[in-house]
Amino acid sequence: MLPDKDEPSGVGGGQAGPVRSEDPAVTLFRQYLRLRTVHPEPDYDAALQFLDRIALELGLPIKKVEVCPGRVIAIITWTGANPALKSILLNSHTDVVPVYQEHWKYDAFAAIKDEDGNIYGRGTQDMKCVTIQYIEAIRRLKSQGKTLSRTVHMMFVPDEEVGGQKGMEKFVEHPEFKKLNIGFALDEGLANPGESFTVFYGEKNPWWITVTCPGNPGHGSRFVENTAAEKLRRVINTFLDFRETEKKRLNTSECFTLGDVTTVNMTMVKGGLTYNMVPAEMDVSFDLRIPPTVNLQEFEERIKQWCKEAGDGVSYKFAQKHMNQSVTSTADSDPWWNAFSMTCKAMNMKLKTEIFPAATDSRFIRAVGLPAIGFSPMNHTPILLHDHNEFLNEDVFLRGIQVYEQLVASLASVPRLVGEA
Ligand SMILES: [Zn+2]
Repeated sequence: MLPDKDEPSGVGGGQAGPVRSEDPAVTLFRQYLRLRTVHPEPDYDAALQFLDRIALELGLPIKKVEVCPGRVIAIITWTGANPALKSILLNSHTDVVPVYQEHWKYDAFAAIKDEDGNIYGRGTQDMKCVTIQYIEAIRRLKSQGKTLSRTVHMMFVPDEEVGGQKGMEKFVEHPEFKKLNIGFALDEGLANPGESFTVFYGEKNPWWITVTCPGNPGHGSRFVENTAAEKLRRVINTFLDFRETEKKRLNTSECFTLGDVTTVNMTMVKGGLTYNMVPAEMDVSFDLRIPPTVNLQEFEERIKQWCKEAGDGVSYKFAQKHMNQSVTSTADSDPWWNAFSMTCKAMNMKLKTEIFPAATDSRFIRAVGLPAIGFSPMNHTPILLHDHNEFLNEDVFLRGIQVYEQLVASLASVPRLVGEA
């Protein structure tokens, strides 16, 4: 690791007290947190320079693929003893979401560490921690002189936080992606406030839908029959009744998480021109997030029926309709899952498997038929991604490196599978 001249030593923020010498991995993490890869104008050049330095330190090649102007995917590769076997992908995104600095205790890009070892900064959880943990795990495995049988790729992608359209979504279709010969991928997960570690094996499908209600127009002084507003009310009631049902299902079943139920939110209403005119049309929009366990064809039939029951002429259209329901196997018989879960078990880690409640780049990886697990090794940590005062404790961070050290070693040692070269 290169020395960093302006690095404050030990405890950040200048507090007095016993100074515990900082682990170089923590120092590197804090350096990475200070790079302003924040939307709307992320400094991706800074991230790429940082990654160049890492590749140099590790003595590994780095490849860069510009998938869109200014949007570069970087890949650092550690070639295995048997490079014909499928590789292991360690994916992370370099960008972070913006901050409301006035709500933060410290500068969100200063990576201040308090006296308890909590490191504050945008990206401490989502997901600069994981990036550095991958790097440090590889560094340690290499320095032990290990050679793993499968090739390991660390991939660093832009624009995850704005939907991945100019990042991972593009790259999975790129010939360079296919060349990586990936067999199994790890990507980001979420913190868990308890003892367990949450592991995500699938994601929900977002459906953005607008329901249009036509009706008889007329003067605002009369009882106009069959109005757009009456139909609109029925539509809203049906969707929101369904919302209540799903909410109840979530709250009454102990084993349900947000990933297991369909969320519904009414997000826009449009219609009408003036006070004294009954409008000929009104519409309402909903954001639905549907778990992979729901039959999407049947669900759309249901929506069709709701519209029909709301009155004549009521129709719907999609602004977004995702249909990919691929999930990654968590069966003991699956060799990747077996390697992952057994390694965690050997470290006495309790795993909780869930469907991710929102969306990550894993969905693009799964969509091209590859197994992907969303996992950020952060237990005893409140979920603060995209929130004010996002932080991660340095001990949790350091433990995560050990976790990846074991995980990468065992995943890259999964024996040749049926159908592999
Ligand atoms: Zn993320």
